[in-house]
Amino acid sequence: MGRKSTELQRLYEAIAALTRERCLHHCPEPGGCCGPQYCDLAEERAAQFGVQLPVQAHPRLKYMGPRGCVVPAYLRPLCAVHVCEMQVLQHEDFARVYLGLRETVCRTEERLGPGWPRRMARRYWE
Ligand code: SF4
Ligand code: SF4
Repeated sequence: MGRKSTELQRLYEAIAALTRERCLHHCPEPGGCCGPQYCDLAEERAAQFGVQLPVQAHPRLKYMGPRGCVVPAYLRPLCAVHVCEMQVLQHEDFARVYLGLRETVCRTEERLGPGWPRRMARRYWE
């Protein structure tokens, strides 16, 4: 894995850890925001990095394994970054860290992400 991928990987893992914690411990329906269309997006992104993702047995979400999603965070950017507005608006400490990191992830994706037009990443998440 090259330097660019390593930097993307590190940042996406950091933001995925933040959002995962909110969703797992502060949501009545953790994982409720997953959808097959987002698994498809992860698959497309993985192909851009030359990675083949391992399909799981879940009836609806092909990359949901028995212990959670099996896709590395940098290959599922939308999922890694996503957290609902409620979490941002109601938890100031979380929002401060999350929004700052999200901006860094956005800028890095714009700089190093595979084949997205400039500022596309930002539009994607707004
Ligand atoms: S890629 Fe993973 S996190 Fe994203 S929708 Fe599919 S199972 Fe959920
Ligand atoms: S994004 Fe919001 S609604 Fe979706 S799983 Fe996370 S906390 Fe729950």
